[in-house]
Amino acid sequence: MRFKICTIGELLVEFLAKEQNQRFDQAGEFIGPFVSGAPAIFADQVAKLGFPVVFFSCVGKDIFGKMCIHRLNSDGVIIDGITPHNKANTGSAFVTYKASSERDFIFNIPNSACGLLSFNHINENLLRDCTHLHVMGSSLYSFRVIDAIRKALDIIKSKGGTISFDPNLRKEMFDIPEMEQSFDYIMEYTDIFLPSESEVSYFANDNNENEQQTMFALLKKGVKHIVVKGGSKGANYYGLNEQGYLQTLHVDGYKVNSVDPTGAGDCFGATFVSLLLAGYSVEQALQYANASGALAVSKKGPMEGTSTLAELKHFLFHTSIE
Ligand code: ATP
Ligand code: MG
Repeated sequence: MRFKICTIGELLVEFLAKEQNQRFDQAGEFIGPFVSGAPAIFADQVAKLGFPVVFFSCVGKDIFGKMCIHRLNSDGVIIDGITPHNKANTGSAFVTYKASSERDFIFNIPNSACGLLSFNHINENLLRDCTHLHVMGSSLYSFRVIDAIRKALDIIKSKGGTISFDPNLRKEMFDIPEMEQSFDYIMEYTDIFLPSESEVSYFANDNNENEQQTMFALLKKGVKHIVVKGGSKGANYYGLNEQGYLQTLHVDGYKVNSVDPTGAGDCFGATFVSLLLAGYSVEQALQYANASGALAVSKKGPMEGTSTLAELKHFLFHTSIE
């Protein structure tokens, strides 16, 4: 099947603290800039697999912006939807690692160029042959971006296209009121839902529900495929079979040397969604996505661990789950 994906949201440069437990209020060394932003990583991973993907965002008219566009372009992302903006600089983030997978961020996103991304930046011509929209919860950081995403969602849905949604909740974003409201709206249209294990309770009807019960309720409301990402433990798939019974699958995570957890969920999601749209079985798509997440954590830098299909195949062929 021919398909084309689009995604919308933050594009920024990221600086990583060199030492674990490095503090933000004391001088220390950072490495970067690395190109980042959850939807940007998603788009990069789709493109690396060889599938068409349009990315909508804004950058500043500065070197960081040029770097972001150049990187995405050279990996094959369709960059015509990225607008260099006059009024703000390219977004940025500083990250420090506490325990192995715990991170603290200082984001400069809502006041950066990608914070000015709005309705008018979504060029309908670029959306014309898109059949799928991926939404990152982390991209719902301003009413303007929410407006932009709603425009794309309406267009894609009206053509019979599909939607995937990764909540990607960041505690730093909880005080943005528009974000919470737009979650419900996007869930109504979601076909493929990709939460993290830690986000499941946010979608539960009450505190006593377990993961399976919460996911079953969402499937009954119309979501077609759900994958709950569990970091090094792997992932759980939930769907309904033709008789309407719950179908579950689990993949154990690969044993890899994890050097940077950022981007794993985005690569996992991009691989799962692309391969499913390309006609792979749920089981195959899950296996490739698991490999994609594992390869992402084994490289330092948010977008440095995206993989080609050949790299994923090579990894799956040579690595066994212990
Ligand atoms: P984030 O907190 O960045 O949003 P996420 O929760 O969306 O991350 P993770 O669960 O961290 O995503 O990772 C996605 C997938 O990548 C996992 O389900 C797993 O398949 C793979 N993965 C992540 N971390 C590891 C690891 N340490 N070892 C092996 N595989 C991993
Ligand atoms: Mg995530």
